[in-house]
Amino acid sequence: MHNVVIVGSGCAGNTAALYAGRANLKPLVIKGHEAGGQLSLTTLVENFPGFPDGINGPDLVENIKKQAERFGAEYMDGTVAEADLSKRPFRLRVEKEWIETRALIIASGASARWLGLPNEQKLIGHGVSSCATCDGFFHRGSVIMVIGGGDSAMEEANFLSRFGSEVILVHRRDQFRASKIMLDRARANPKIKFLTNTVVEDIYDVHKGHVTSVKLRDTSTGKVWDQEVGGFFVAIGHIPNTAVFKGQIDTDPDGYILSKGGARTNVNGVFHAGDVQDRTYRQAVTAAGMGCMAAIEVERFLEAEGH
Ligand code: NAP
Repeated sequence: MHNVVIVGSGCAGNTAALYAGRANLKPLVIKGHEAGGQLSLTTLVENFPGFPDGINGPDLVENIKKQAERFGAEYMDGTVAEADLSKRPFRLRVEKEWIETRALIIASGASARWLGLPNEQKLIGHGVSSCATCDGFFHRGSVIMVIGGGDSAMEEANFLSRFGSEVILVHRRDQFRASKIMLDRARANPKIKFLTNTVVEDIYDVHKGHVTSVKLRDTSTGKVWDQEVGGFFVAIGHIPNTAVFKGQIDTDPDGYILSKGGARTNVNGVFHAGDVQDRTYRQAVTAAGMGCMAAIEVERFLEAEGH
């Protein structure tokens, strides 16, 4: 029987583990299918306080993990396949093993959203990617396309301009969600070309086994054309990882956990932290802050329960 299990090992989960560890709760962290979370897929993080020269995302998240381990947090590979939150102790199945816990922190984050194009899934890993940091290197000297109009798209386009001969940023509207500084940086980059009011209709070539070109459509004129590309990076936001808790935890229609104040969910003893609940801020520092809040709430919850 565990005092607290933390689902997810990103910035939120690791910070929760650090605080719960220091509260002597011996937390168990279930790493999840994207261990390290979104930070492990980024490059330089310049806005996490305390690092005047920035820090690499994977280093930041690994440092927090090490810090948590120093205070007794344990990490387990795997993902939660099944959960029973109807009674206490809560029960979670990871692979074949059932785990019991008095309290639970859901910090399972949000995963990349895809366009849903016919050939997109077939070409993932063969030119289609959601992670510039992971796959940019493979597209040295080729034309790279990035889809999206948010900060992620700007960040990926800038990063990929180090590798590609040209980066074409395709956005379905002519207004951007990206922050001004990120947008300005991308606009000032001579290797990045913007295509607005444009959508991708299909990606080729499944028969050749890798990305060769895409079919584009201008939504204002209706013009359709093919564009040669070597790499195709989708940066259109994320989907919260709450499917396994569906029907047991209150979520909004998109699956983000509905907070009941602080880090509380609708289930007494189950808390949330990070992007799995936060569709507004979604920053490393806010995720870390929520991880801290969730752990403090767990501590108080267990104390009130006499543990
Ligand atoms: P986002 O802000 O939600 O932007 C998603 C973009 O993808 C939007 O431009 C959206 O278009 C587009 N999109 C969504 N579905 C689409 C579809 N089916 N087809 C075509 N386009 C589609 O997501 P994000 O860029 O991942 O950013 C998420 C959060 O992380 C934000 O708060 C952001 O500030 C933060 N972030 C910060 C940094 C940084 O500061 N270094 C870096 C990355 C992310 P519409 O605008 O038309 O809806």
